[in-house]
Amino acid sequence: ATPTAIMVGTGLGAGRGVLFKNATALETAAGVTAVVMDKTGTLTKGEPEVIDVETIDLPEEDLLRLAAAVERESEHPLAAAVARRADARGMPRHHAEAFRNVPGQGAVATVDGHRVAVGNSRLMRAERVALGDAAHRLDALAADGRTAVLVAVDGRIAGIVGFADTPRPTAAAAVAALHDAGVEVVMLTGDNLGTAQRIAKELGIDTVIAEVLPGDKATEVARLQAGGRRVAMVGDGVNDAPALAQADLGIAIGAGTDVAIETADVVLMRSDPLDVPAALLIGRATVRKMR
Ligand code: ADP
Ligand code: MG
Repeated sequence: ATPTAIMVGTGLGAGRGVLFKNATALETAAGVTAVVMDKTGTLTKGEPEVIDVETIDLPEEDLLRLAAAVERESEHPLAAAVARRADARGMPRHHAEAFRNVPGQGAVATVDGHRVAVGNSRLMRAERVALGDAAHRLDALAADGRTAVLVAVDGRIAGIVGFADTPRPTAAAAVAALHDAGVEVVMLTGDNLGTAQRIAKELGIDTVIAEVLPGDKATEVARLQAGGRRVAMVGDGVNDAPALAQADLGIAIGAGTDVAIETADVVLMRSDPLDVPAALLIGRATVRKMR
């Protein structure tokens, strides 16, 4: 590798806020054949808003008050959105006891003597709560690209909360640019399959791996590598760090968590998905100059 080519490539990247941590990262970028992208916070802004509260077994006031009591104890972005909505409505705060966070599924606590569970259908299965008609409502929200979360009170579904998380404005253009460069694009997410498929379709992504537990993202990357792909993983979350480490090239969103940024080989300071194809093309140009 000529030091000059490396210097030029590193400088080109830095000029647009694409930080390659070392020369190897530049060379690896040139050989990437598949890009795996986390959904929440990478392809989307990662700032979910509650847009829909559907009541099933409780008035909306009670539903939101109980759900918010649990979610105030959680650090998940969906939890923060529920708490914000309850605060905006001026709801009294209730104390949650015996709080338990279930990674990739939701949260459980006791509020006013009631057992309240807030999370996805996997959590409801674990809590032995039957979905009944709620399953259809969940599917309908997912078909609209909404992330949806169930609220169960004392073992029965009490309602559903729907969230919107806007795609980053350049996400679709980034996918198109990767396809133009001959690179496969895969979405990897803990969210519901229906929701992920709808957003993937909107962005032009044809492969979706969804409902992946936080601990299993790295395994999914390894599976793609075993299939002969040279994989770049793009992520922002604590959840994504093991997958960033497993990938041939880890790319962190600059607005992401410290762990993701520390683990990655490349950091996108502008948090712009278009900087993913840019990073790969800079790598290719660098390698061409070395020959
Ligand atoms: P992502 O890959 O999108 O970052 P996570 O692994 O954090 O997703 O979560 C996966 C799913 O688990 C969420 O889409 C949601 O259904 C559920 N979930 C996780 N934590 C919570 C919570 N605190 N409240 C409600 N739902 C949650
Ligand atoms: Mg994320």
